[in-house]
Amino acid sequence: MTALSDIIINQIKRFGPMPVSEYMTLCLLHPEHGYYTNRDALGASGDFTTAPEISQMFGELIGLTIAQAWIDQGMPKPFVLAELGPGNGTLMADILRATKSVPKFHSSMDLHLIEASPEMRKRQKSALDGFCVTWLDYFSELPQKPLFLVANEFFDCLPIKQYRRTAEGWQEQMIGADENQLHFILGTATSEDVFTKSNDIPNGDMLEISASSVAFASAIGEHVNTNGGCAIIIDYGEWDSDGDSLQAIQNHNKIDPLTNCGAADLTAHVSFRDLTNAASKHAKVSSTIPQGILLERLGITQRAQTLAKNIDGKALETHISAHKRLTHPDEMGKLFKAIAIIPNHTDLPTGFN
Ligand code: SAH
Repeated sequence: MTALSDIIINQIKRFGPMPVSEYMTLCLLHPEHGYYTNRDALGASGDFTTAPEISQMFGELIGLTIAQAWIDQGMPKPFVLAELGPGNGTLMADILRATKSVPKFHSSMDLHLIEASPEMRKRQKSALDGFCVTWLDYFSELPQKPLFLVANEFFDCLPIKQYRRTAEGWQEQMIGADENQLHFILGTATSEDVFTKSNDIPNGDMLEISASSVAFASAIGEHVNTNGGCAIIIDYGEWDSDGDSLQAIQNHNKIDPLTNCGAADLTAHVSFRDLTNAASKHAKVSSTIPQGILLERLGITQRAQTLAKNIDGKALETHISAHKRLTHPDEMGKLFKAIAIIPNHTDLPTGFN
């Protein structure tokens, strides 16, 4: 039992069962006990590892793709280079190193990081030492300028609601509490979304909806179409909602999502269909492309070979396995997917179709 478990149990006793979305928000971002508020979450010593923490190649290739998109759109100056949920700041550091030699890119950029956690901001500050960074709480605070944005493993931690189709119709999966233990419980579905979304889902199956992800995708589409720019979103998930995908990770292991509140990372699969539908109301959205294919198209194999020339022994082994981990279909290559969002009537960036 954690301090946050007590708070959540008391809140449920007072107000009744809690939607999964509210539970996720409290576990991840409670101002005192939230997971991202306190933790050394990412990397080998943390609870989970993300693509930029696995290899510098990831950020370098994404960085060069963004710089090329900026060149293709006429090198707007000033432009905003931004990241949603930058974690340790590793991805942005790699993007900045890779784009250092792109003429006028750094001198035209206005760097913004959207980060909710003060602890994470400290890590980002040290990773980006020497750069002028503006931290924002909210996407809506970004300046109205051409926006070149990246979000890796950001959407998977946005809150979801879960609905189950039963013989009595749709019900919302909520979280209830006994004396000192949390459990899932079905309650009346309160959102209209489920009724319009899927009548072809069989009884017993679950549907997940992230209103928060939809709102972010819509705002990104609108911003990019109005101001110019390009957003690249990479995350794990499927085209469609994929049943019950809520998961908690602690020390690189899956644990029960209702235990250790605030001490484990809590995520869900991203529905790329929902992101695409929301963003394409305003802007052009690429097909959803598996991470492995995208990285191959961006030249990861050539980059890996170049880097391999200067290393040997253990470092070379780690490098080869990082390449495989990022691209192989049985590792991150297929489960992780990417989309690009750009203004209507603009060509998609390299690697996307
Ligand atoms: N992009 C990073 C790490 C992703 S972890 C990487 O690829 O390594 C998720 C990050 O998003 C953390 O930094 C977390 O504090 C931040 N975050 C989570 N929810 C947020 C929200 N609603 N607004 C802003 N930042 C958020």
